[in-house]
Amino acid sequence: MAVDPVCEKPVNPHNAYWMIWYKGTPYYFCSEECQLKFDYKPEHYRVLALERRQNQAVS
Ligand SMILES: [Zn+2]
Repeated sequence: MAVDPVCEKPVNPHNAYWMIWYKGTPYYFCSEECQLKFDYKPEHYRVLALERRQNQAVS
């Protein structure tokens, strides 16, 4: 499962309608609204997603 970087809901990449490639990484979204939010501030959400992944690796 992927995680929507905006609302942090789990998203199934296989049937996700909303997806963006940003800096070589695919991001999946639960809705067009979340995709638009990401599109508006991609760097903000990229950093958040990165931090979340690092936290998961530690715990
Ligand atoms: Zn969402």
